[in-house]
Amino acid sequence: MEIPDVSVVVPAFNEEGCFPSLFDRVRAAIGRCDVSYEIVLVDDGSSDRTYALARQEADASDNLRVIRLSRNFGHQAALIAGMRAARGRAVITMDADLQHPPELIEDLVASWREGYDVVHTIRVDTRRSAGFLKRMLSAVFYFVFKRLTGLELRAGMADYRLTSRKALEPVISAKEVQPFLRGMFVSVGFRQTFVEYQAGERAAGHSGYTWKKMSQFALHAIVGYSAVPLFWSFGVGIVTALISALYGLYVLYIKIFTVEAVPGWASLALLLSFFVSLQFLFLGLLGAYVAAIYSEVKQRPTYVIAEVTPPDDLKDVLTDDASPTDRHG
Ligand code: UDP
Ligand code: MG
Repeated sequence: MEIPDVSVVVPAFNEEGCFPSLFDRVRAAIGRCDVSYEIVLVDDGSSDRTYALARQEADASDNLRVIRLSRNFGHQAALIAGMRAARGRAVITMDADLQHPPELIEDLVASWREGYDVVHTIRVDTRRSAGFLKRMLSAVFYFVFKRLTGLELRAGMADYRLTSRKALEPVISAKEVQPFLRGMFVSVGFRQTFVEYQAGERAAGHSGYTWKKMSQFALHAIVGYSAVPLFWSFGVGIVTALISALYGLYVLYIKIFTVEAVPGWASLALLLSFFVSLQFLFLGLLGAYVAAIYSEVKQRPTYVIAEVTPPDDLKDVLTDDASPTDRHG
């Protein structure tokens, strides 16, 4: 089995409109790097012609492999499937919609040649590529994430990066079922650097990331990497206990030493609602952690592969059952 210098892993979910310019631009960019390469396209359960078009392209070329997941597992799962299938000495992950300009591959490979193991990309000036609200929320997320976890994620960092084999291996062999990849690639260590690029608009189609998916992603990232919020509830618990103790003393004092023991309904109602809401808030936080533990403990497969083109010896990425392609020839 020949090992290519670079693997380019591309997850695609309903991206038929991005072909063939995606392949053309990736090949043109990597052609300027003087390296051997393969492209690993992961079809994440698309319902359009993404898979058919990719298969067509794969039949006509000897360095494109297509992996089809059995349904839509989401961007992160598709990325992991692709990274596990990749054989290159360095692995680049990028989006199919061309918002990650393939031309940057030259810079990524150059940094790798200089000896960097993880080359992140940072998206700057995203005025056209994302709305104001999306940009603001993403800035808030990175700020909070850094404060809570101590991990230096930078705003604009996405899943467009190059990783050397030795930095990739610990990440793809981690037992975590739903890893937060951006965090893992920062915390894996080795020599890291970044290159910047201007974000473009989607080449075609529309974003598969809904607000719901994005907020789940942000919460999952923080819960997956930081136990600090759990200690907040502990700290708040101590403070509220102290306050209630002092308040209790005050109530006793009024009751025993004065005659003005007016039933304090207003303050009671206020306190009650305040602490009840606080409790619910932290119960919710606790729930998030319990959910994270739950999903990891189940050890469900992150993804399931349906087909591999061309059929080969991808033992690492295939489940125990042979894929239909293998079975039929
Ligand atoms: N994607 C995927 N599965 C999904 C959603 C998205 O594989 O469930 C792919 C998609 O085809 C694209 C990349 O992940 O190549 C990023 O998705 P998208 O462009 O929708 O996200 P955005 O750029 O809006 O963050
Ligand atoms: Mg996109």
